[in-house]
Amino acid sequence: MGKRLMGALTLALAFAAGAGATPLNIVATTSDIADLAKAVAGEHAVVSSICTGTEDPHYLTAKPGFIARARTADLWIAVGLELESAWELPVLNGSRNRHVQPGTDGYLDLSKSVELLDVPQGPLSRAMGDVHPGGNPHYWLDPLNGRRMAEAIAERLARLRPDLAGEFYANLAQFRNALDERMFGAKALQGAKAETLWKRHARGEEIPNLGGWAAQLAPRRGQGLVTYHKSWIYFANRFGLRVVGELEPQPGIPPTAAHLAKLVATMKAEQVDLILQEPFYSTKAAERVSAATGARVVVAANSVGGRPEATDYLALLDRIVAELSKE
Ligand SMILES: [Zn+2]
Repeated sequence: MGKRLMGALTLALAFAAGAGATPLNIVATTSDIADLAKAVAGEHAVVSSICTGTEDPHYLTAKPGFIARARTADLWIAVGLELESAWELPVLNGSRNRHVQPGTDGYLDLSKSVELLDVPQGPLSRAMGDVHPGGNPHYWLDPLNGRRMAEAIAERLARLRPDLAGEFYANLAQFRNALDERMFGAKALQGAKAETLWKRHARGEEIPNLGGWAAQLAPRRGQGLVTYHKSWIYFANRFGLRVVGELEPQPGIPPTAAHLAKLVATMKAEQVDLILQEPFYSTKAAERVSAATGARVVVAANSVGGRPEATDYLALLDRIVAELSKE
């Protein structure tokens, strides 16, 4: 057989194998979910996100462009816990796409796959600010949750496309390995299983040959920090940092002079030397508090694309860890 014919045949075969394998159209509400979905789906999906990394997902509004994208989606993936409540249902309803409505296989709420913090006890009132009744929705900033989110995405993709399940799980394994290595360093992983390391680290136990993010942030364990919004508790919790307060007096309520004065007193008493906030909030309050306390202000992206360096989920965490571990 001539080389040319062989080539044409291989191409035809590849095409036949791919027939019916139109890439899945995945629409994620946030850029972080989109990045995890890309890692797991690989070449078998076209993935986009509604919220860019520089936008605050709490405050988007439903736009015709969002509805158009939901209309052709095979899978819609959300953070849940009412993070997207201002716009998600209007977009899904408007799309009239019955495949991606909540409760169907084409709708995935990732909050169901992670352990939640800040689940309010007792009745909620307006005075508590913009509290999320199901729990704090900023869970993607804990790398262990990123791992769980990727697992949930792989499971759902395998259900939607059982013929590709093997590839999704292989991609998941690759992503998980990369994440574990960033977290603990390659050397620590030679001595123990990743699952064991996550557990030991969570208990604050010594890990031989520890590297990665865990080692970088180890010196900050037990130290306090202040954040703008209550959006860093999962990250702080994973690395043993203490969030002693927020610049916002209540979630969604802008800083007030009275609240900042109280916060400054707390920070001085607890020797807090760090203020952490997202790029989409004004740094005015942080600068004021910094002037009074000497605390360093760190502006870090909390989502993929929130800063040019935050090119993907792992790079996002790289940046946050690098910024916080600076002296
Ligand atoms: Zn929030």
